[in-house]
Amino acid sequence: MAHVNENYNKLPGNYLFQTIAKKVADYEKKTDRQVIRLGIGDVTKPLAPAIIEALHKAVDDMATAETFHGYGPEQGYDFLRHAIIKGDYETRGVSLDTDEVFIGDGAKTDVACIQEIFGHNLTFAIADPVYPVYLDSNVMFGHTGAFNEKTGRYDGVVYLPCTPENGFKATPPTEPVDIVYLCNPSNPTGTAMSREDLQEWVDYAHRNKVILIYDSAYEAYITENDVPHSIFEIDGAKEVAIELRSFSKNAGFTGTRCSYVVVPKACVAYTHDGIKTPLNPMWNRRQCTFFNGTPYIIQRAAEAYYSEEGQKQCRADIAYYMENARIIRDGLTDAGYTVYGALNSPYAWVQTPKGMKSWDFFDLLLEQAGVVTTPGSGFGPHGEGYMRLTAFGSRENTVEAVDRIKKLRF
Ligand code: PLP
Repeated sequence: MAHVNENYNKLPGNYLFQTIAKKVADYEKKTDRQVIRLGIGDVTKPLAPAIIEALHKAVDDMATAETFHGYGPEQGYDFLRHAIIKGDYETRGVSLDTDEVFIGDGAKTDVACIQEIFGHNLTFAIADPVYPVYLDSNVMFGHTGAFNEKTGRYDGVVYLPCTPENGFKATPPTEPVDIVYLCNPSNPTGTAMSREDLQEWVDYAHRNKVILIYDSAYEAYITENDVPHSIFEIDGAKEVAIELRSFSKNAGFTGTRCSYVVVPKACVAYTHDGIKTPLNPMWNRRQCTFFNGTPYIIQRAAEAYYSEEGQKQCRADIAYYMENARIIRDGLTDAGYTVYGALNSPYAWVQTPKGMKSWDFFDLLLEQAGVVTTPGSGFGPHGEGYMRLTAFGSRENTVEAVDRIKKLRF
């Protein structure tokens, strides 16, 4: 008899964004008003011209036998791995070998799959609130107990509350864990950990033989000098951290799909007998077995992000989004809201007024302002009482949305 993976049954209800989409579709049926979407974290600007040019050229390469590319290396082409090392790491004083960088087809895939190289009974810690994929993928792998409806938490998971009191920064747990997911700058709170915060995490990981899964999907939005762009800028991080990056938000690849994972050769975990085992060959083996590489065309497009023109154009897009973030932050602060984040990230984390529940405020903003946001409670119990607003809309829509929210009377 074929048995199903019953861990899937532990997942409650609908995926957050499906619920939002349904509410928005229902609202749109009964109104002529233009709905402004500041909910899902998808970019709206088209790919940069330098990237489009590289895509066209790569498509042409596929048209002749001499330049055609079939199966590529599972780990990614060296041209992109070298561009990443030079553009994202050497500029920040971090040296990496080519075989420490693995090209993927999106950080969502990478972050959900990386746990495969760890032991089955692993215990993990996540920030609360946090990007939901860390949690849901671990649930599917059977790394949690049941979902507790009362607490909104899974048994067996170590949640690290992120609150105004700790600046929305996760701090090391006292309970024993094997791996910790860190998202810096954070989705959803838009806040960021400093060099000192990350040194504390790395030292903790060394002391406790813990691996940090460090997701820096929003690295390109960092504006403050004290916020590192890579965990490997921190002393001792190569032994205890794996870093995940995405081209989705720095270069608009949400629909184009490219990412990478850095697994330093110094990074080790342990067998049950306590034998130190490097993770780099394991991730290499995993990729070679499960993955046939990101398409050549896409890797050429990602390479163009690192060209002089690519950098100039992509940075201009990021500056545009960050100006939207400023408009949201300043506009809502002026209107009396308490707003966090949006300084090193395209996300503003807004406290709901009058102690309203996140979903109640979501409904109010949708029904009365025609603005779609994301209820903080969808990101974890400590997200209750907050809304996430994204800066990825057009300038016009962002200004209009802030204006509509300012005019709300309730
Ligand atoms: N990590 C974080 C923190 C994200 O917010 C997202 C997407 O929103 C991802 C990873 C996934 O990115 P990708 O588009 O590369 O799958």
